[in-house]
Amino acid sequence: MRIALSLLAMLSLSAAQADDVDELVRVILEDTTVIEDLQELTDTIGGRPTGSDANRKAVDWAADKFREEEIAFTKEDFTMPFSWSENSVSATVTGGDLDLELNVLSKAFSTGVDALEAPLLDGGTGSEADFERLGDTASGAWLLIETPVLDDKIGLAGLFGEFGLARDVDARALKVGAAGIIYMSSRPKNLVYRLPASRFAGNRQAILVMEREHALRLQRLLRTGHELAMTATIDVDAGDPYTATNVIAEIPGTTRPDEIVLFGAHLDSWGLGTGALDNGVNVAMLMNIARQITRLGLKPERTIRFALWNGEEQGLVGSWKYIEQHADELDNFIVGASFDIGSGRTNGFFTGGRPELPPLIDTYLEPVAELGPFQQIDIPLVGTDNYDFMVQGIPNLIAAQSDANYASNYHAESDTFEKVDQAQVRLNSAIAAAVIWGFANDTDRLPRQTRAEIWKLINSTDLETQMRTFAVWDAWVKGERGRND
Ligand SMILES: [Zn+2]
Repeated sequence: MRIALSLLAMLSLSAAQADDVDELVRVILEDTTVIEDLQELTDTIGGRPTGSDANRKAVDWAADKFREEEIAFTKEDFTMPFSWSENSVSATVTGGDLDLELNVLSKAFSTGVDALEAPLLDGGTGSEADFERLGDTASGAWLLIETPVLDDKIGLAGLFGEFGLARDVDARALKVGAAGIIYMSSRPKNLVYRLPASRFAGNRQAILVMEREHALRLQRLLRTGHELAMTATIDVDAGDPYTATNVIAEIPGTTRPDEIVLFGAHLDSWGLGTGALDNGVNVAMLMNIARQITRLGLKPERTIRFALWNGEEQGLVGSWKYIEQHADELDNFIVGASFDIGSGRTNGFFTGGRPELPPLIDTYLEPVAELGPFQQIDIPLVGTDNYDFMVQGIPNLIAAQSDANYASNYHAESDTFEKVDQAQVRLNSAIAAAVIWGFANDTDRLPRQTRAEIWKLINSTDLETQMRTFAVWDAWVKGERGRND
């Protein structure tokens, strides 16, 4: 009888939780201010590189929003190890009758150069064979590197391809002592954008992106025997460490407050465009979920943290430093999740090579089954703020969203408010809310992996390549970043 009663109590509890998630999803699918929030962050505050005034405004804006709703939050300062910003950049190509001013942009963490004139050479695709062909001529020259077209059809695969290409070409160019690298923009119609140099803050090269149409013209001229020279000035401020701030909101758990379910999105962007797809939209989404849980007075069993990260674009720094600052809590994290692929449909989650996770998430998604189908993809992925959770052995997720228009506007002037799919944001919010609520009220938990187990994951996947692409490999190997025991 006693057993039957407690069973009954358990059943009624889970029924109450089911009511809670249905209510939460219903409210989120209705008319909320998520889009107005996004418009404030993007149109009013605008692009917000970590270290800029706009970034500090964004931190205060997010804090004010949480304060208005009486959601507990902390502003958690951390040290950015290296500052970088571009003041101005210019490039002119001369040769024969040609005297052409070009539309270029420096890659983030490019070194500065002052009117550096050098031969401009056709670097092909920057392959080993191309560098063999160039031989000694590459030393001291500007190398023009061709990239494949990135459009909405190739999407994220093209973006990861471009990161991988840069990793290899930057290393080859450094070895031969090139004056600098000019990557052809992968995106047609004169679009330039700011990708990070492959070594991030460790970069010691001059690296530019040149709009595609003129880069193709120069390539044709070089391939038909014209001798060209390029003069470029890259004026950057680079150097000193400074303080940046994560904003962490918290809804305390009732029965198991020590267990932490963390969902995050990065507040920072680069200064081109207004960081709408990357990643204002997901910041606004998570803030709104926190708001609706609070307004409904819903009480999760575990503590939910909503993390608005900073320094993501400059080496995933905010989440890394957060992990360091919360070292004594790391055994208590149930999950560390990131949303960072714009406003395309959430199809499921990348579950990081933890086969126990997909069936849990499938269960959490049941209340929003009509927004499916969903499919979890159980591979580890490096490139956003789940990374430091991964190398701490904590279950980690990235929302697996359709690319939609994400990659083609990535880090470009064109990443602005109107690119966001407003209807899909509401649907994605409901999906996210269901998964957050599922994690926050479940009793299942995955063990934290040891360093040996993380090594096993690395050795059985392509993680090493990904970690090298995002310049985090050496720090892992040296034990400076990631779990040590
Ligand atoms: Zn991002």
